[in-house]
Amino acid sequence: MAIETLEEVRARVFAMPKPKCPACGQEMSIYEVPSINFGDGLGWGEPFLFVCFNDECPLYRSGWEHIQENYAHTASYRQMCYPSSGVFEVMTVFGHDGGKGQVVDDEVRRAEEALKENIKRGFNLLAQAYVDKDGVVVLRLLMDPTEPVRVRIKAAEMIGDIGELEAIEPVRNLRVGNEKLQGAIDAAVLHIHDRFFTRECPFCAEIIKRRAKVCKHCGRDVSGV
Ligand SMILES: [Zn+2]
Ligand SMILES: [Zn+2]
Repeated sequence: MAIETLEEVRARVFAMPKPKCPACGQEMSIYEVPSINFGDGLGWGEPFLFVCFNDECPLYRSGWEHIQENYAHTASYRQMCYPSSGVFEVMTVFGHDGGKGQVVDDEVRRAEEALKENIKRGFNLLAQAYVDKDGVVVLRLLMDPTEPVRVRIKAAEMIGDIGELEAIEPVRNLRVGNEKLQGAIDAAVLHIHDRFFTRECPFCAEIIKRRAKVCKHCGRDVSGV
């Protein structure tokens, strides 16, 4: 069996249904094991675990007392589960937030919040550019692969509405992995042609008048095509 990269393990664990905590019944969270524990004597041998972070979980609540009585230090247990085998175990935590720093669910939530912010920012820029008829800003947002797809789709629609003929060349050459975005890009090119009563010469790909019978660039007969 091939050795998985951390990203592959992450993708696999994320795709798994999250188990329910046997102690409280609540859905468990994905926990990224801190690298300091991974591989040493404390390590669990897996980079991700499922952990119950329910503070009302009876295992966690009774754990404080149990450990205090038996081991004379302040700690408790959280229910955990190995993704590789589905085996349930308990992990010791030494404070209320013990282990919580690395809950991947929180990372995902933060990433989603950042995405929302970026979409808002992009839409504001686009709205202003649309009012200003500033095709350069719209084009820049459309071309930028780090912009959220929703922003780029909106930019494609706008460049169709306000883009000049010069915008066709860069837009037409844009190839993206997202099907919806590619569809919006292709539609934008057609929309610009519509507004300027132009089309692409099927022979040389230069922009010509829609009703042209002969291409002014390559001289071919384009009346029937
Ligand atoms: Zn629980
Ligand atoms: Zn031509």
